[in-house]
Amino acid sequence: MAGRAKELVVISGKGGTGKTSIVASFAALAENVVLADCDVDAADLHLVLDPKTVRRESFSGGKRARIDPGRCTRCGRCEELCRFDAIGRDAPGVGSGEGAFRVDPVACEGCGVCAWFCPEDAIEFAPAVNGEWYVADTRHGPMVHARLGVAEENSGKLVSTVRTAAQAVAEQRGFDLVLIDGSPGIGCPVIASITGATLVLIVTEPTLSGLHDLGRVADVASHFGIPGRVCVNKWDLNPDVAAEIERQAELRGLAVAGRVRYDRAVTDAQVRRQAVVEYRDNGCAADIRAAWASIRHALDERSPS
Ligand code: SF4
Ligand code: SF4
Repeated sequence: MAGRAKELVVISGKGGTGKTSIVASFAALAENVVLADCDVDAADLHLVLDPKTVRRESFSGGKRARIDPGRCTRCGRCEELCRFDAIGRDAPGVGSGEGAFRVDPVACEGCGVCAWFCPEDAIEFAPAVNGEWYVADTRHGPMVHARLGVAEENSGKLVSTVRTAAQAVAEQRGFDLVLIDGSPGIGCPVIASITGATLVLIVTEPTLSGLHDLGRVADVASHFGIPGRVCVNKWDLNPDVAAEIERQAELRGLAVAGRVRYDRAVTDAQVRRQAVVEYRDNGCAADIRAAWASIRHALDERSPS
């Protein structure tokens, strides 16, 4: 394989559009693909693909302050300086009973100001473990996914870590495609998901908010110069809005990769932890196969990065 593997990123304007369900079916249809779940704030691809972990790594997205009670003279300077109200003092009778200062690790934003100004050098400012990422085997190939700790942020950095690891796995295995379940919305995680990707597939649904979200997410992809395709999921729930979404997409230079009809089999497949194309060879599965054929053709036309 020459150069980096191509990257297809599947995104949506918001959660709940059926994006992950479509990614799971693409995973079943693609060959020689590395899967990457970059929806790190609400990862759920693993629920369908049942990964077996072969490597587990800690993720550090930043630093956290911690006060050494043995060195602290309780001057209170750090509490005054912290703009995030992350430093407080034990109430009388709590802990040592001496009113020790403590950092709330959830509120601490890792700015480092307290450590810099502490006159006693009593504040340790060290990398914090914010989550974990994993390399796993699934029935459809290797997968990289991650979990962010409770109330942890910096998911953009974790997304970049997952993408980098997925590229490394593709290189090891000689695979030429990474299929990414991207983050929904238009924030930092989605930007980290799509920057430098080969192709973006925007999954939307036929509602007015779907139409609005398409515009926002298409603007982000266009800003970063990533070519895009659009797929309207459950299109037959509102054919008029579906047609309008496709019209708006084409006005923005986004080709339509396909339409996927509504089918209760999608939920039934999820309950059985299967992709729709594995579960039942029905009309919905045929729609997804047709969309995948269109996407595969678009990927084949693009040269490796
Ligand atoms: S600035 Fe340093 S010495 Fe003063 S209360 Fe905070 S940790 Fe303790
Ligand atoms: S590192 Fe910044 S946010 Fe965290 S406790 Fe110190 S001053 Fe507050």
